Amino acid sequence: MPEGHSIRHLATVHSYGFLGTTVQASSPQGRFAEGAALINNRTMTDVTCKGKHLFFHFDHDIVHVHLGLYGWFTTRKNKGQDAKESTRLRITNKDYTSDLVGPTACEVFDNQRYLAKINSLGPDPLKTDADAEEAWNKIKKSKKTIGQLLMDQSVIAGIGNVYRAEPLFLSSQSPFVLGKELHRGKFDSLWRDSVRLLQVGAEDGKIKTVAEHHLTNDEVKLHGCTQTSYVYKRTGNPCRVCSSAVQADDMGGRTLYWCPNCQR
Ligand SMILES: [Zn+2]
Repeated sequence: MPEGHSIRHLATVHSYGFLGTTVQASSPQGRFAEGAALINNRTMTDVTCKGKHLFFHFDHDIVHVHLGLYGWFTTRKNKGQDAKESTRLRITNKDYTSDLVGPTACEVFDNQRYLAKINSLGPDPLKTDADAEEAWNKIKKSKKTIGQLLMDQSVIAGIGNVYRAEPLFLSSQSPFVLGKELHRGKFDSLWRDSVRLLQVGAEDGKIKTVAEHHLTNDEVKLHGCTQTSYVYKRTGNPCRVCSSAVQADDMGGRTLYWCPNCQR
């Protein structure tokens, strides 16, 4: 699932390709025909994002996109390519074309709805002005587990299943500890690792969370062109640190990956 790092990457790509230009918008699939007509032949005045939410601004009309589990953009230099039938939104200018398929949300917001959405989200670790205290104030009062809280977008915006699993591992933190019982030092370390790992992911557009000395020889050869993790999707494989089998459990409807030995 695209997490905060992908959305930041997409915001950068779309700023580069479309910001300040007049765009033609259409909805080949038809489900966003009205919205596309509203922004067609208008100037994209800003591109913003918070957590997993991406916004294209056309003055006071703002297209809100949430990719969900299956949504994705394909952005290319123009070569007269046809849009797939499933394309919800196509935006194009004289140089670039970007096609959006399969999003959970693609809708037009006015300024009020935009601000309401932004304000409903917790701090985004990728923002330089993100206030970690805002997240800590919610976590330290909560009876939910830290594994659940990290995925709650109103607590921290942009973290999904990968960026829940990996910082918890790096902090040697059990996912099952309740927010109200979490040590402040552990929270600081979780926040710090979230910032660092999301930044790496946003720059590369790929998830890379493993230190080089923890990679296998084969992975070292591939480093830079493959995604690596400590525990995410490594069920049954030996932990890179202690060799115990990585475990998977269901937590809040999503698979939680963790090392029962390192994260006690
Ligand atoms: Zn381990």
